[in-house]
Amino acid sequence: MSDVTAGWFDSAGMFIGGQWRRAPDTLPVEDPSTGQEIGRIARGGAAEIGEAVDAAQRAFDGDWGRMSAAERGRILAGIGQRVLARVEELARLEARDVGKPLAQARNDALALARYMEFYGGAADKLMGETIPYLDGYTVYTLREPLGVTGHIVPWNYPMQIVGRSVGAALCAGNAVVLKPAEEACLTALAFARLAQEAGLPAGALNVVPGLGEEAGAALTAHSGVRHVSFTGSFAVGQAVQRAAAENVVPVTLELGGKSPQLVFGDADIGAALPFLVSAGIQNAGQTCSASSRILVQRARFDEVAARMAERYAALRVGPALADLDLGPLISARQKQIVEGYLERGAGCETLAEGRITEDAPAGGHYLAPRLIAGAEPGHLLAQEEIFGPVQLLLPFEDEEEAVAIANGTGLGLVASVWSADGARQMRLARRLRAGQVFINNYGAGGGVELPFGGTGKSGHGREKGFEALYGFTQLKTVACRHG
Ligand code: NAD
Repeated sequence: MSDVTAGWFDSAGMFIGGQWRRAPDTLPVEDPSTGQEIGRIARGGAAEIGEAVDAAQRAFDGDWGRMSAAERGRILAGIGQRVLARVEELARLEARDVGKPLAQARNDALALARYMEFYGGAADKLMGETIPYLDGYTVYTLREPLGVTGHIVPWNYPMQIVGRSVGAALCAGNAVVLKPAEEACLTALAFARLAQEAGLPAGALNVVPGLGEEAGAALTAHSGVRHVSFTGSFAVGQAVQRAAAENVVPVTLELGGKSPQLVFGDADIGAALPFLVSAGIQNAGQTCSASSRILVQRARFDEVAARMAERYAALRVGPALADLDLGPLISARQKQIVEGYLERGAGCETLAEGRITEDAPAGGHYLAPRLIAGAEPGHLLAQEEIFGPVQLLLPFEDEEEAVAIANGTGLGLVASVWSADGARQMRLARRLRAGQVFINNYGAGGGVELPFGGTGKSGHGREKGFEALYGFTQLKTVACRHG
C-alpha cells in the first residue's frame, strides 16, 4: 500500500478497544502538494462508532477509570516522550497529508508533545475546593470526568488539535472517541500507535476515521457520548450542537474567526511586521486564528501597506517537503472556495502577491498569497472567514473606529494591539471581542498553556491550558453534616 504510513499502522486501519481493525470500506489519502493518491484510510461509519463508544465506556468503567490521576499523568507524559522521539517522522507524515511546509509540521509535532507533557503534569493537580458553610457542615467539591467524550477534528492542524482536545480529556480521566478529518487523519492514527506503546489502557482512546456526515454525525448523535468537542466550520458546528442537544450534553465549539491586528500610529512597525504577515499566511491561511484583517491607523497606513507588500512579494509557495513559506491548500475544493472569494473581491486593490515556484507539481492545490486593500469593513472579504492566504488592510482614524471595525464581524477568536500606549493597551484588551488578546505580539492561538476559544460566532468553551480541564469535568458538591 502506501509508503507514508509504513512503520506506523495499517493505513486502512481504525483503532478501537486497543485493537487495530480494518474498516469495511476505505477513502483515498491525497497529497495536496501533488494531487496524487498516496494511500487509503478507513471509512468508519455508525457501526464502528458504536463499537468505539462501547469500548470507551468499558475503559471508563474499568482500568482507565480506576487509575490514579498520577498514573494517568505518567502515561500522558510517556506519550509525549514518544512523540518527541519521532518528531521528524510525524512532521513528514503531516506535511504529506496536509500539505504544510515541513517546518510548520515540525512545530505541530512539538506542540503535540508539549500538550502531552502539560496535561501529563496537570493530571494530579486538578482539585476541588472546600466551601465554608453552616456550622456543623463540611462541604467540598469533586471534579469528576464526564465519561466518554467525542472529538471531531479538522484537517488544518491535526496534531495540535488532537493534542489540545484529546490531551485535556484524557488528563481529566475521560475515555475518548476521536473522529479525525477525512482529508487528513494520518497523524491521529500515528498518535494512537504511540499512545498504545506508552501503555494507555485499551479503549481509553479510540480513533475512527471516516466522513463527517457518516462517522462524525454518528458520534455526535450517540447517546453514550457525554461531551462533544468540535473544531471546524460554522454550519457543521451548529449541526453538532443541535445533535448534542438531543442528548443534553455539553459541546465545545471552535469555529474560526476573522481575527484583527490593530496597528496604531505609535506602534513599533518594524517589530510588528513579521507578526502581521506570518499570522496571515501561516499554514496557507488555513488557520482558525489566522489574522486576516490588519487595521492600521491612517497616518501610517501607506507605510505599513508598502512594507507588508514588500514581504508578500518575497513569499514563495511550493510543495510541503520543499519547506518554503507556504504549501498548497488542502484540496481542490478549498482552493475553489478561496478563489470564489477573490472573484467577489475583484473591485478591491491587490497590493502584492507571493509567487508559486516553477517546480510546484501541476496537480497541487497552490494559490499565491495575496495582500488586499480598498475593501470597506462591511465587504464580504472583510467579514467572512476565507480560510486561505488572503489578508486585508483596513484603515481607521481613531480608537473608537478601530474597535468598531475589529468587533464588527460577529466573530471573535483572537485580536492584537500594536501600540506603545499602556493605557490604550489595557483599554483595548477589555473592549476587543475575542477569546485571546495579544499586546505587541500575535500568537495564533498561543502556547499550549494559554486558554483559547471563541466569542460570538467563533464558538464557545475553552480549550488549552488548565481551563480546558474544567470543560472536560463535572463539578459535584458534597455537603456533609456532622454536627
Ligand atoms: P467541516 O466543519 O466540514 O469539517 C470539520 C470536521 O467535522 C471534520 O472532521 C468533518 O469530518 C466533520 N464533520 C463534517 N460534517 C459533519 C457532520 N454532519 N457531523 C459531524 N461531523 C462532521 O470543515 P471543512 O469542510 O473541513 O472546512 C470548511 C470550512 O470550515 C473552512 O473553509 C473553514 O472556514 C472552516 N474550518 C475551520 C477550522 C477551524 O480551526 N476553526 C478548521 C477547519 C475548517
